[in-house]
Amino acid sequence: MFLLFGVRSKDHLAGTRVMNCEVCGWQAPQQILKRTTKFTLFFIPLFPVKPSSYYMVCGHCQGFRKADPHLLSVA
Ligand SMILES: [Zn+2]
Repeated sequence: MFLLFGVRSKDHLAGTRVMNCEVCGWQAPQQILKRTTKFTLFFIPLFPVKPSSYYMVCGHCQGFRKADPHLLSVA
């Protein structure tokens, strides 16, 4: 008998904000992505193995960087 296990990360769009990009300096829509990493057993995701992390992708330069999750609660 063998077990097939591992971890898998997935990104979900958590929101979009129009802000100045820290990479290119343009004011452009910034997509805020929430990344969750889950333990998988036979490729089935079961439970998170670490806290979610947030990233921002610039709509102008596609710059990818870490984001502050508090940006989601700011209107
Ligand atoms: Zn940019």
